[in-house]
Amino acid sequence: ENFSDAGFGPAVMENVTRSGYTKPTPVQKHSIPTLLFNRDLMSCAQTGSGKTAAFLLPIIQHIMAGGPDMIKTPTFNNGRRTYYPSALVLSPTRELAIQIHKEAAKFSYKTNLQTAILYGGRENYRDQVNRLRSGVHILIATPGRLIDIIEQGFIGLSGCRYLVLDEADRMLDMGFEPQIRKIVGQGMPPKTARTTAMFSATFPKEIQLLAKDFLKENYVFLA
Ligand code: AMP
Repeated sequence: ENFSDAGFGPAVMENVTRSGYTKPTPVQKHSIPTLLFNRDLMSCAQTGSGKTAAFLLPIIQHIMAGGPDMIKTPTFNNGRRTYYPSALVLSPTRELAIQIHKEAAKFSYKTNLQTAILYGGRENYRDQVNRLRSGVHILIATPGRLIDIIEQGFIGLSGCRYLVLDEADRMLDMGFEPQIRKIVGQGMPPKTARTTAMFSATFPKEIQLLAKDFLKENYVFLA
């Protein structure tokens, strides 16, 4: 009924309160316990349902509670520092990525968690890469730019314990399926070693197939 019953630590609770959230939305009420228990999730949630906090809050809580175990140290090869986010959120568009990133920054305020954003388009590639230097625990990215940055050696996904596909149906409509499969299939821990959440307004065949491939068999489905 209440955020204070969710099992968040004081830092996360404080940020929830500061954000003016008093009551969880229905999507949050069901998603938060599911993800806090590390169950996988398929949620048919629309924009405006509060889905962003529904996945960000459990992820932030887990990374904080997990401490250094949850965080993989950057490595250095061929003159390049590679950063290993603990959580990856994939977004179809730069606009949605920016929104998610804002919420992530709000909810990790006064914690030592770092968030970063990567998206294609005119925004300077170098600026995005340079901003990774303060570390990245939660990475929000559009698929194409992320693949590019992985191939350049700036990001590795082997420490990624949380994967979120936001607006999965829109990502497929935009033709991102090969990119998504590449990101998840190469270098990310197997599904048994991560927690995965998919959000999609619709649940057509293609999304069902993606869910079958990316989510553990006992995933929770929220209509
Ligand atoms: P979303 O569906 O995640 O894009 O969220 C839609 C809007 O609702 C955003 O402006 C959120 O900041 C806001 N919001 C999300 N959850 C809550 C809540 N429990 N109480 C009040 N506002 C919320």
